[in-house]
Amino acid sequence: MGLVVQKYGGSSVADAEGIKRVAKRIVDAKKNGHQVVVVVSAMGDTTDELIDLAEQVSPIPAGREFDMLLTAGERISMALLAMAIKNLGHEAQSFTGSQAGVITDSVHNKARIIDVTPGRIRTALDEGNIAIVAGFQGVSQDKKDITTLGRGGSDTTAVALAAALDAEVCEIYTDVDGVFTADPRVVKKAKKIDWISFEDMLELAASGSKVLLHRCVEYARRYNIPIHVRSSFSGLQGTWVSNEPQGAQKVEQAIISGVAHDTSEAKITVVGVPDKPGEAAAIFRAVADAEINIDMIVQNVSAASTGLTDISFTLPKAEGRKAIDALEKAKGAIGFDSLRYDDQIGKISLVGAGMKTNPGVTADFFKALSDAGVNIELISTSEIRISVVTRADDVNEAVRAVHSAFGLDSDSDEAVVYGGTGR
Ligand code: ASP
Ligand code: MG
Repeated sequence: MGLVVQKYGGSSVADAEGIKRVAKRIVDAKKNGHQVVVVVSAMGDTTDELIDLAEQVSPIPAGREFDMLLTAGERISMALLAMAIKNLGHEAQSFTGSQAGVITDSVHNKARIIDVTPGRIRTALDEGNIAIVAGFQGVSQDKKDITTLGRGGSDTTAVALAAALDAEVCEIYTDVDGVFTADPRVVKKAKKIDWISFEDMLELAASGSKVLLHRCVEYARRYNIPIHVRSSFSGLQGTWVSNEPQGAQKVEQAIISGVAHDTSEAKITVVGVPDKPGEAAAIFRAVADAEINIDMIVQNVSAASTGLTDISFTLPKAEGRKAIDALEKAKGAIGFDSLRYDDQIGKISLVGAGMKTNPGVTADFFKALSDAGVNIELISTSEIRISVVTRADDVNEAVRAVHSAFGLDSDSDEAVVYGGTGR
């Protein structure tokens, strides 16, 4: 029996009862002969509450202090969890990210892990302890300041530790039974996926699926760490995410893995752009210099009479203001007429490696949307994904329509959401 890393999210440890329930699960894994490392998130909505609090004392809290504050959330849960485990008669020790050897760059609020040196965790395990590690945090290599990895970063902590400790598996415990063919909060008939490739999981995460963070899946693929996403509220097998299905997961790869949606983006249209070389380059240079990541782009055919065209692109809503300001500033140099901003959009994506070799997937996708009366505004594709932008109000309906059209609906309402406020 090897080493397992288990990660418990905020909804799994939302209160004292939750912590005691999780402690029992951890002890069971230990009794089964595993060495157990646990990564834990802050209790319930603690992180959001700390953010609200910070914003009440300062509209733009300093990055260093903000990180110091937010890491307190995970420290609370790690200490309580260690106490609960000791109360069950087993040895446990808790460690901050810094103590666990999670070394990051020094970009506050969204630091990247650059090294993991888990010496103290190894020692704790060798001495027979269960090691509990605070997720979502580390220490910067140069300044030795406390950093955080960005919202939802505990998943990344777990995979990074699993890689550094050469774990058998990284188990991510959450408030649903695994990865579903669509968000079970939107599609009641969503089906649990038994196994999914890193490749498809990365596309789902990039397209708005929230169950696993993109960065965490990327890390797992790079180090080839199998992830098992499962519920801490049930004993069911969850979803295995790995290169190849193993043993009991022997299943045929589905043509379509799932339907993801995202309502966190906005659309900017640059109206009246001169149709000549260098214009798109200038527009996207201005946006890139403001450190904004864009997603989809469309350029309309220019009307021959005017020689002007429109260029639309999507970006995170949170970056909308910054992008508009950057483009306004560059307006003289670029030479366009005006800007339009629209944040009432949503994106629906169909993901599956099987679409590479199955003709007709795109046609069926558009047919399903048209049957549901959903109008398409932008389209983008990759080898294993088709995405469209629609009105935000149409998104839920569109997801359900596409899910049905591709035969993904389960016969029963098996998707259970056990906890969490979805905040
Ligand atoms: N507590 C942090 C958050 O809510 C990190 C995490 O949950 O993974 O974003
Ligand atoms: Mg959380």
